[in-house]
Amino acid sequence: MREAGLLVVGASLAGLRAVEAARATGYSGPITLIGAERHLPYDRPPLSKAFLRDEEPAVPTLADAHALAALNVDVRLGEAADGLCLEEREVMAGGRCVPFDSLVIATGCAPVTLAGTESMADTAGMNGVNGVHTLRTLDDARAVRRHVLAGARTVLVGGGFIGAEVATALRARGSSVTIVEAADVPLVRAAGRVVAPLLAALHARAGVDLRCGVSVRRVSDGPDGRRVVLSDGSVLTADLVLVGVGARPTTGWLAGSGLGVDDGVLCDETLRAAPGVYAAGDVARWHNPLFGTAMRLENRTAAAELGAAAGRHAVDPSAATAVSAVPYFWSDWYGSRIQMVGVVEADEVHVVGDPDGGSWAALHRRGDRVVGALTVGRPRQIMKYRAMIARRAPWTVAREFAGAPSGVGGSA
Ligand SMILES: Cc1cc2nc3c(=O)[nH]c(=O)nc-3n(C[C@H](O)[C@H](O)[C@H](O)COP(=O)(O)OP(=O)(O)OC[C@H]3O[C@@H](n4cnc5c(N)ncnc54)[C@H](O)[C@@H]3O)c2cc1C
Repeated sequence: MREAGLLVVGASLAGLRAVEAARATGYSGPITLIGAERHLPYDRPPLSKAFLRDEEPAVPTLADAHALAALNVDVRLGEAADGLCLEEREVMAGGRCVPFDSLVIATGCAPVTLAGTESMADTAGMNGVNGVHTLRTLDDARAVRRHVLAGARTVLVGGGFIGAEVATALRARGSSVTIVEAADVPLVRAAGRVVAPLLAALHARAGVDLRCGVSVRRVSDGPDGRRVVLSDGSVLTADLVLVGVGARPTTGWLAGSGLGVDDGVLCDETLRAAPGVYAAGDVARWHNPLFGTAMRLENRTAAAELGAAAGRHAVDPSAATAVSAVPYFWSDWYGSRIQMVGVVEADEVHVVGDPDGGSWAALHRRGDRVVGALTVGRPRQIMKYRAMIARRAPWTVAREFAGAPSGVGGSA
């Protein structure tokens, strides 16, 4: 009888944590880790921060060959899974069938491009245009870094977190940056109606040209760089065009497998998608009991926590428990650390501190509970808010901790 063991698809943070956690339970059966990229598992957050900023940045590797050998895992890099057969309990990858007893799906996300496809090559109006990039992988970051070092005139399409971090690196070198944002204010969905304009003001203060309510109609090669034609008819010239309009879960390879997929792999509160099949990280949409709703998170902390839980549950389903997580995200903009915990859907938002002065916080209330907080320039407070949200603390506790509101506020 074959012992196929644990198969983990996706060799990044969630996949690696799944392998480590499975071994930590004492599981001694075979483990296979399949990754589409040729690189050893590495950390993505530094790619838009230190990797662009530092003179000689290190590759932010999460586990070297020695560490992987110690885990006794069969690592297959440069192999993309392209099919799953639940009945046969097999994954197709690199032209072969890889059997499994239990499976962890950790295939993360891929960036959305202007045409809404997963491949830049398919992007309407941008075929073959050099200097048009997304930023998700180490290879992407190497290409973007070359432009940053060269002092590239840059157009950022989309005013999200990654774009803001690239703008930070570029402005530090004195390069000109324009952000083209289709919405009236960037980040309304991620940060909420009250907070998003306060974050947008950081761009203006850093000398970034923020253009809202316009979209990119066309990008083409011109005599002096890339010509970016906007929906209001204006034309920008750039050396680097970085498209940062979000990411979509990498689930195409699961088509026809019978797994439920709807903006992520659908899982129960233990991360189980089917018997013996779990999902984790950016690709997983699971029922988060802390908020009583299904969620898919795109942040490092959740990827690590969910990855570890999925690895444990996959090798010992009888011990599987509900996975609660408080969303936590950070970003570095123009010397300010921005940190967010919890959720932004709220009945009320209170801002404390001075948004013009670089140190402030926004608290989010739903009913009589604090459900979210965002801080700027207050790095030591955020874990206190995280603990309050995790223990379902009343709103008054968070308000008392934060001090009196500054007067800016309203409903989210
Ligand atoms: C530039 C950047 C900056 C970020 N900054 C922050 C930050 O400041 N704070 C924060 O909290 N989070 C940040 N994030 C988000 C964080 O990095 C992600 O939440 C985290 O990487 C998710 O880990 P994951 O393992 O679920 O997925 P991923 O890291 O996306 O890894 C998925 C892996 O699966 C592989 N894969 C995909 N399809 C297949 C297939 N069919 N077969 C085999 N392998 C496959 C992919 O190649 C990839 O290596 C940032 C992300 C990026 C890109």
